[in-house]
Amino acid sequence: MSETAGAVCETCPRHCRLAEGATGYCRARSAVGGRVVCTNYGRLTSLALDPIEKKPLSFFHPGGNVLSIGSYGCNLRCPFCQNDSISQHGEDEVSWQQATPSALADLALRLRDERDNIGLAYTYNEPLVGWEFVRDCAVEIRKRGLQNVLVSNGCAEAAVIDVLAPLIDAANIDLKGPSQDYYDWVGGDFGAVCRTIRTLHKAGCHVEVTTLIVPGRNDADDDIDAIATFVASVSPDIPLHVTRFFPRWRMSDATPTPVSDIRRLADVARARLGRVLTGNC
Ligand code: SF4
Repeated sequence: MSETAGAVCETCPRHCRLAEGATGYCRARSAVGGRVVCTNYGRLTSLALDPIEKKPLSFFHPGGNVLSIGSYGCNLRCPFCQNDSISQHGEDEVSWQQATPSALADLALRLRDERDNIGLAYTYNEPLVGWEFVRDCAVEIRKRGLQNVLVSNGCAEAAVIDVLAPLIDAANIDLKGPSQDYYDWVGGDFGAVCRTIRTLHKAGCHVEVTTLIVPGRNDADDDIDAIATFVASVSPDIPLHVTRFFPRWRMSDATPTPVSDIRRLADVARARLGRVLTGNC
């Protein structure tokens, strides 16, 4: 096989080139029949009815619930990952159950009447590595008059976001840091995340942004000011959640972010944005 042989995945900026049968960096996509397909399609590791505020979305149907699903896999490697038990594992390392878009949409509809459910949220692991399942569920959810919610790292190619944007009603996108230097640390693409936020907002999606403050990494005033400046350039009305880090995964020995730092940084962001919230405090 030549060095350039293999199928290239166009889902995220990593552009994995995969030999037949090989699985990508995210563990959710594999080369089958000469092209890269989503192998975690419909494989649910998590299913729960969550308060919408837990996503977090603070200004979208407040007080409502949203049926929330997750699979396995992620295209980033944030050392502080809060969901590593599913996001950093593949199909043989987690337990999952197969689901179909129509069955999930029917369940979401039943829960609308019984439990004040507004729709379906794609969350827990990184949903965009299995964007085809998000797309197919979103179509079924819309047919039933319900809402689609995306919770994502936003690190995907423009073509993927262009397909999903008209189907997504609300999104919380992580903007983890202020620069490509920060995204080099977590294994992502800063420009792609910024583009996702812009595209979703332009498409009319309700967008909120979350920044997890990791001590010593993105806790300088200039860091949050740069993040708030970008968000304000999309719209100063976009809510920004400034949230506290707790030790997890490869940063289990680190100390939590001091609450005083979160409050200080939120105040810095408020110079540019009208709606800044603190989280995990
Ligand atoms: S989505 Fe997965 S397989 Fe595709 S390029 Fe990104 S990490 Fe690689």
